[in-house]
Amino acid sequence: MMIKKSPWVSIFNSGGCKGCELECLMLISPKYDIERFGCLLKPSPRHADILLVTGPATKQTKDRLKKVYSQMAPNKRVLAIGACAVSGGIFRNAYNTDKGITNTVPVDYFVPGCPPKPEAIIHALLKVLGDLDGRKKSKVKKL
Ligand code: SF4
Repeated sequence: MMIKKSPWVSIFNSGGCKGCELECLMLISPKYDIERFGCLLKPSPRHADILLVTGPATKQTKDRLKKVYSQMAPNKRVLAIGACAVSGGIFRNAYNTDKGITNTVPVDYFVPGCPPKPEAIIHALLKVLGDLDGRKKSKVKKL
C-alpha cells in the first residue's frame, strides 16, 4: 500500500471509562509507534485530519463532540474506538447515553472491543490512510 499523506490524529473522549483512551495513547509508545506510518497525535482538533472517538456520547458530551467535529478541517475521518463508541457498549441502555456516536457524527470506521487492542486501532488507521491514498489517485486520474 502506498501512503502519500501523513495525517494528524486527535482523540476525543465522549464519556467513556478512559480504557479506550489509554489504548489510543499506546499508539505513540515505542512499541506501537504510529509515527512510522506518518501519523502524529495532536491535542487540537483544528489541526487534526482523523478523530479517534471513545465513549458512548453522553448527553453531556454530545454537543461537545459535534463542536469538535465541526472544528476539524475538510476531508476529516472519524474512527469509533471501542464498544461504547460503536454501539453504547456497557452504557447502551443508560438514561444519559446515545447508544454510540453514530447519531452525533458520521463514522468512517468502527473498531470494536472493550477496549480494542492498539493493533486493531492501527489497522483502522491504515485503512484510512489507504482511503486517502485512493482518493488522491482518483483525483489525479480525472485531471
Ligand atoms: S469500550 Fe470498554 S474500555 Fe472502552 S470506554 Fe467503553 S467501557 Fe471503557
